[in-house]
This record gives sequence, structure tokens and C-alpha cells, in this order.
Amino acid sequence: MARKIQQNVILETQLYNALDKHEFKVFYQAQVDTSNNNNIVGLEALVRWISPELGMKYPNYFLPLSEMTGFIVLIDYYVLREGMKQIVEWKKNNFNVPRISFNISSRHLKEKIFIEKLKNLLHETSCRAEWIELEITESHVMEDLDEAIDILIALRKLGLTVAIDDFGTGYTSLAYLEKLPIDKLKIDKLFVTDIDKKKINQSIVKAIIDIGKSMGLKIIAEGVETSKEKTYLLDIGCHLIQGYLYYKPMPAGEIIKELKRIKDDTF
Ligand code: C2E
Ligand code: CA
Ligand code: CA
Repeated sequence: MARKIQQNVILETQLYNALDKHEFKVFYQAQVDTSNNNNIVGLEALVRWISPELGMKYPNYFLPLSEMTGFIVLIDYYVLREGMKQIVEWKKNNFNVPRISFNISSRHLKEKIFIEKLKNLLHETSCRAEWIELEITESHVMEDLDEAIDILIALRKLGLTVAIDDFGTGYTSLAYLEKLPIDKLKIDKLFVTDIDKKKINQSIVKAIIDIGKSMGLKIIAEGVETSKEKTYLLDIGCHLIQGYLYYKPMPAGEIIKELKRIKDDTF
């Protein structure tokens, strides 16, 4: 116990230093539309810590502690700013980039000044609200539904879109789903893995697709790794896909190369 506490104290100090030294980097994972030439229709911003001492560290190494201490708010803010600056630069260079989606922790969302901070950041970076999407996990929405609805309404008023992340894991009552002012559901990898073989996953995902579509929501499946999973999803009406089958998360320089290559191949 004492050792764990000591390790956490060390990690917390390292994380503050890492932020100061700009060691956090934003990677982007492309989302494709399998019903339309596998066009890239979105990018999800995913944080990485590139430590000179420790190498590349993934969110599961530093986000649980960051959630506990509140440091996550600083990470989210950093990723939002970097991502907004990036899309503005791409647009300035006339690159045809799709919307970028950002993961927002509930700690951040619950801050009274979150909407104000977001507005200022959009202004400061010259990023347009319609260029971005925010991802909020289902379990976070369910923590305090009324509060979440107010925030979601305010976010969409700004002109950005909202996706519910890890959908299916947070036990949203379907009656509540209708109340949520959202644009998209992201079906969790848990239900996507082996969907071509697992009957129970098939039933769950079919239900999510039917209900989501009847509410006019976009549906995207996460963590798609095999073409069998992709084909099954397409057959039941889910054509938006995010997963290693198509793209892994990559640094900005690589994703823009890929977007340019696709464009050049088209013309
Ligand atoms: P998430 O939002 O559910 O993001 C999807 C995760 O699944 C990413 O892991 C991504 O790399 C991984 N993934 C995508 N396709 C596949 C696949 O086909 N197979 C497998 N096995 N994995 C796949 P990552 O980047 O390690 O991020 C983990 C989690 O950390 C994210 O889960 C998100 O909850 C959180 N996170 C990442 N960046 C941020 C951030 O800037 N702010 C906040 N608040 N959370 C973040
Ligand atoms: Ca996400
Ligand atoms: Ca997810």
C-alpha cells in the first residue's frame, strides 16, 4: 500500500513535468465509412506520453491516476488545444480533413467553467465548433443525468457534435437515451469483438443500431479488427468503423500523409 502511494506520488510529479516539457502528443485514429469507398470521415484524438526515459506510454498507464488526482483536466485541455491548433493549420493549408473528436473526462465536463473554457479555446485557436466533436462516456452521462443533459444542450448550442463513447457498457435505460441531445453512439469494442460468431453480441448490437437509427443518431463501431466483424456490422446496418482493421492511431504527420495519399489516388 505504502509503496503504491509512493509510486503514485512519483508518477504524479513526472506527469506535471511531462506537461511542462510538452511530452504529451496527440495521435489520431481515422474512422472510415465502409459504405463509401472506406472514406475517412472522422479522426479521434488519443493522447500519448512520449517520455525520454520511459518511452511511449499509453493512456492506461497514466489516465487512471490522472482521473483520481484531477490532472486529467489539464491533459484534456492540452489535447483539445493541440488538436484545435492542428485542424486549423490543416485547414489553412487547404487539406480536406474531417472532424476531430476529443475524449472529455467527466471531471472536466463537471467544471462550472467548462463551456466558457471551450469557447475561449475555440476563439484563441480560431477553430470552428463544427470542426470538432466531443466524446463523453455513457457511464459519465449516467452519473448525473439532468446535469449531463444541461451540459450537452450547451455544447450543441456552440455548434459542435457530441458522441456517447463506450456505448452499451453504462446501462443507460433506453427511455433516457431519447432525452439525450446527442449526435452519435460509439458501440464499445466489448460487443464488437467476434460479433460474427457471438450470438449475444449480435443481439445487443442489432438492438443498439435499431434504436439509435430510429432516433436519428449516427452509429459507429469501435475496435474492429477483422474483416468478418466488419462485414457482419455492414450487413446489420453499421457502416461507420473505427479499428485496427483500417487504421491504428498515428501522429499528425502520418495521418495527413494518408489523407493526401487517398486524395491523390482519387484524382
Ligand atoms: P476510447 O475512447 O474507447 O478509445 C479507443 C481505444 O481503443 C484507444 O486506446 C484506441 O487506440 C483503441 N483501439 C482502437 N481501435 C482498436 C482495435 O481495433 N483494437 C484494439 N485492441 N484497440 C483499439 P488508447 O489510445 O490506449 O486510449 C484508451 C482510452 O484512454 C480511450 O478509450 C479514452 O477513454 C482514454 N483517452 C485517450 N486519450 C484521452 C484524452 O485526451 N482525454 C481523456 N479524457 N481520455 C483519453
Ligand atoms: Ca473515445
Ligand atoms: Ca470507446
